[in-house]
Amino acid sequence: MAKPIIEITNLNKTYTTANGPYTALKDVSLTIDEGSIFGIIGLSGAGKSTLVRCLNGLESTTGGQLTVLGKNVPDLKPTELRELRKSIGMVFQQYNLMPSRTVENNVALPLRKSNLNREQKKARVTELLQLVGLESQAKKYPSQLSGGQQQRVAIARALANHPQILLLDEATSALDPDTTKTILELVERLNRQLHLTIIVVTHQMDVVKQICTDVAVIDKGTIVEQGDAFAVFSDPKADLTRRFVSNSTGLSRIYELIAKRSPILKTAAGERLIHMQYVDKTVSEGLVSIISTKFDLTVNILFASLDIVDGYPLGSIVAKYKGSDEQIDQALEFLKGKGIRTTLIEPGDVAAAESDADETTDVRAAAANHTAHEKEDAR
Ligand code: ADP
Repeated sequence: MAKPIIEITNLNKTYTTANGPYTALKDVSLTIDEGSIFGIIGLSGAGKSTLVRCLNGLESTTGGQLTVLGKNVPDLKPTELRELRKSIGMVFQQYNLMPSRTVENNVALPLRKSNLNREQKKARVTELLQLVGLESQAKKYPSQLSGGQQQRVAIARALANHPQILLLDEATSALDPDTTKTILELVERLNRQLHLTIIVVTHQMDVVKQICTDVAVIDKGTIVEQGDAFAVFSDPKADLTRRFVSNSTGLSRIYELIAKRSPILKTAAGERLIHMQYVDKTVSEGLVSIISTKFDLTVNILFASLDIVDGYPLGSIVAKYKGSDEQIDQALEFLKGKGIRTTLIEPGDVAAAESDADETTDVRAAAANHTAHEKEDAR
């Protein structure tokens, strides 16, 4: 049974500014379970940092409840808050390492006030550097390391006091895709090996896709969607989530084709353009060939992609179906029973995108427009 480690109920945060009050968080409610990798995703200015700063008491709240590790954060005295912060390691985009200290001395910094003696501290630093694969770099200075290595030092430092929660605030945003991947692999390993709860604050859906078990989407201080990462990817509900998902899955390609008025999307009489998605956490048999045979249809695959979300495959296929209305309807019903979500792309959607494309070449705008027209469970 999942056990909550953070519970946020109707949290509000209003800043007092020279121009009057500014509400950065509005009625935020979230439950983060122990051992999860929880993504908080939103555009710049959405309120992510404010939320994270409220979690460890760096920012006061102006309403609602916030319980971290069983403690009601707004009620904590300064000494109690300092104690709580030891249980929450933090890693930032800019690494925040001390340039004048060696790698080992950077990692040792949080141990200054611990009860460990000199030898024990040394042993702990070695253990931490081994954990992040940097034992051979102990005597180097941050400037002698790559960005990915510096971020590993920051992670080792954040883990020094055995925190139960690790908070990554845009921790991979300054890294190239390959380095991002290796850092995320490390984070995943730490989650398993140390049974750490990890909160990943990001504006990159690819990060969520790679490691998060759960995700919350924040927009203008409000949570617009949250749930199991796979469920959110396979069936995004909020417009913003749909935009994030289509930009991070192969799906955006089909919207590009629509925006570019691609002739391959044109349908003739008796043809329907169908988007199929595997929404179960299992990939089914060769369903396209099964429905072709079983319902005597021609199924012409125009586009297919496979994403891996939280370790599970999420497939997307756009195909032109040719057959009688009855046959196509039966095939769609059959697919539904197999856990495949089907969505009809109406010819009108292509036409609508065509006229939009005259006014804008912004693929995202076309995608958002298209998504708004999508019809669930095509029939
Ligand atoms: P994000 O991390 O998602 O980029 P932030 O939490 O930093 O968003 O900011 C959310 C909103 O709150 C922004 O409009 C920002 O300008 C505002 N904000 C953040 N910190 C303060 C502050 N100390 N005083 C006033 N407004 C703030």
